[in-house]
Amino acid sequence: MAHQKDPLLAEIARRRDDLITLTQDLIRIPTLNPPGRDYRAICIYLAERMGQQGWQVDLIRAEGTPGDSDVYPRWNVIARHEGADAGDCVHFNSHHDVVEVGHGWTKEPFGGELVDGRIYGRGACDMKGGLAASIIAAEAFVALFPDHKGAVEISATADEESGGYGGVAYLAEKGYFDPDRVQHVIIPEPLNKDRICLGHRGVWWAEIETKGRIAHGSMPFLGDSAIRHMGAVLEEIETYLYPLLATKNTDMPVVPEGAKQSTLNINSIHGGESEQATDYTGLPAPCVADRCRIVIDRRFLMEEDIAEVKAEVTQMLETIRSERPSFDYEIRDMHEVIPTMTDKDAPVVTTTAAAIEKVLGQQPIYVVSPGTYDQKHIDRIGKLKNCIAYGPGILDLAHQPDEWVGVDDMTDSAGVMALVLKELIG
Ligand SMILES: [Zn+2]
Repeated sequence: MAHQKDPLLAEIARRRDDLITLTQDLIRIPTLNPPGRDYRAICIYLAERMGQQGWQVDLIRAEGTPGDSDVYPRWNVIARHEGADAGDCVHFNSHHDVVEVGHGWTKEPFGGELVDGRIYGRGACDMKGGLAASIIAAEAFVALFPDHKGAVEISATADEESGGYGGVAYLAEKGYFDPDRVQHVIIPEPLNKDRICLGHRGVWWAEIETKGRIAHGSMPFLGDSAIRHMGAVLEEIETYLYPLLATKNTDMPVVPEGAKQSTLNINSIHGGESEQATDYTGLPAPCVADRCRIVIDRRFLMEEDIAEVKAEVTQMLETIRSERPSFDYEIRDMHEVIPTMTDKDAPVVTTTAAAIEKVLGQQPIYVVSPGTYDQKHIDRIGKLKNCIAYGPGILDLAHQPDEWVGVDDMTDSAGVMALVLKELIG
């Protein structure tokens, strides 16, 4: 119904074939991360498309960031359409990198095949479908409102899947997300077309190493096993830390339900002799392990302070030290992200909510992501709070085999994005 009512939605419906072709083209550029393949190719593709329509285009290489090299340069693109009058800048930011293909595909991973209204391929859902939807939304808006206020920006950025340091973090450091340059940011991650994602939980990664003393495996009493010490750490995590984390719940609307509390994953464990190549046919040597390491991934809530999160773990380790003879350890910080949540009254939130009601005929669902995404850099480095994730695609399909994005979902969310532009700068 809404499609007949609003000329902008009709314009997007008319561009359906263009949206499909654009999505397929983007999927067919295999921007795998790692290692960071074809980043330049996808940026050039977008620069040409937007440039031909009179958008000002910047190609930016994040030189010197993690992973950047002459073989795998970290390229980003920002296209800007300047309005006729003063006003706000609305920015749509998508990452252009995709994760490894993995096993279990029945479709061509970089084929962009269209079957029964679904486009298949690695990155279809996360998040080339969202990128394509935002481009069609912006182009339709500019076509109908050539004399709009302010500015529209579309960016496609590198390395979100590996932390975003060669992408949004770099651009934020260069001032591209400063509040005097950009006032509203929508990140079209695949959160489902009726959901507005306000932010994410926090992250702390750390490596814990227990120390031992090497000796011959036939006389373990002459050494001191770092693996047995790590066993004590794991025992304490099971019996003390997990029950403690289960008591910490958040008022953030995190989905899925299990992520409404603090969580901890043990990402890896390694102790003793290094693993040999799979084609090595020799036997291991008998040694007492002199070190054992685990990497923990602690996700925390708005209500928690990162210093307390860290202290919890070090206190636990100190307790073990006080009770267990010859126990010694080291703990190393690897990575941390502070939780962020945009206010529900922020203009980009209320405008998107109204647009969802108009296009889908229902109230939006507000969510917070269990994991982080590029909003962290826009918030912390860019100092811009008026930011959400909103885009087409089913979150659960991200990083899966036979990943797909629905064409109807893309047109609906493109409609929402276009109405947001109309409301904010039309
Ligand atoms: Zn993504």
